[in-house]
This record gives sequence, structure tokens and C-alpha cells, in this order.
Amino acid sequence: MRPAPTTCTRRLEWDAAHRVLRHESKCATLHGHRYTALITCIADQLDDKGRVVDFGVIKERVGGWIDRTWDHATLVNVDDEALRMFCVNQARDRGQRPPYVFPGEPTAEVIAAELARLAEELLADTGVRVAEVTIFETPNCSATVTLESVVRLRNVRVGRPPGVPSPEEDADQRVADHRSRVRQRVDALNRAPLDEHTADTVDRTQR
Ligand SMILES: [Zn+2]
Repeated sequence: MRPAPTTCTRRLEWDAAHRVLRHESKCATLHGHRYTALITCIADQLDDKGRVVDFGVIKERVGGWIDRTWDHATLVNVDDEALRMFCVNQARDRGQRPPYVFPGEPTAEVIAAELARLAEELLADTGVRVAEVTIFETPNCSATVTLESVVRLRNVRVGRPPGVPSPEEDADQRVADHRSRVRQRVDALNRAPLDEHTADTVDRTQR
């Protein structure tokens, strides 16, 4: 009989600022959190030392990336150009941390999805699979992205199916195309040197 898959979970913490631009009340104001991430990895079989993966690998790969990129940074909605440009200018003129741009509001849900995607990339060459990522924004409030949604996120760029699409497929494809364009813009902004950040660079008709 095949052994049941086993998971292991590494907890990681960091401090960051964010605001939920279109929030109905106080979360639209810039504020900070002590974020906690739970990164859960899964394996069908344990390694020869009886582990899914060494906890230190998750800490080094994913925690190291968080320390370099998200810790004491501002997590910004791609549409929040005023905050993004403020942070870019502070980074350029005062050496502060550059902002990290998200494809939507930087809620716990969106941060969990982004970290699940990143954790998969950061752990790819270890052969470890990410099963689940949970983000605690406060001790009482968390959001979880599961393996199923990680796989779905990975497939967002899947091409148009052959033949004439049904209206539903066409609508799905338009949503996927839109997401893909936003993703490309976000990736470009997160890679861009500070001088190459400008406000309102995107063709609004494309959104
Ligand atoms: Zn918040």
C-alpha cells in the first residue's frame, strides 16, 4: 500500500505596511501588520531522513526572500499609483525599501496567493511541492490558498482552447487574458529599477 502523503509546515514572520485602497472603512488608511505565513509542503514519500523537507530549506529559500523583499516594505495594489510612486521616490531618494506591487488589493487572500506562487518557484529545484499557504494579518484573521488554487493560478496563462469558444469560454478567456496582462505588468514593476517606475504607464484601454 502506498504511504499517505505527509505535510510539514514552516512559520515565517515579517513586518510590512499596506492599505486596501477600495476598503469600505479604516483599512483604506495606510497601516502596518506583523504578518505570519504558514508554508505547508507535501510529499508522497518522506526522504531518507524521514522528512518532507528540511524546515531550514523553507526558512532559507522562502524566509530569505521575504526578508529581502517584503520585510519593512509597503505592499501595494498595482492600481494604487500614488502610494507606489511615493514609496519609489522614498526608496530612490532616501534608500528606503522599494514597494512590492500586487495584481490586486494586498489583502491576506491576495498575499497568500502571491506567496504560494513564489514559494513554488523558490522551492522548485528542491522537488518539494507547496500544498497550502496561510497568511495571518492579525492573530484573529487569516486567509489560506490551497494546492488546488495554486495549480489553477499556474494555469492562468493556458492558451485559448481550439475551435470557436462558447460565450462562457470566451468570457473565461478574457478574464484569463486580463489577469495575464496584469500579472505581466506587476512582474515588470517588481523587476524595474526605481528610475523606471512612472505613474500611469499602462494603456488604460488594455485593462
Ligand atoms: Zn491591514
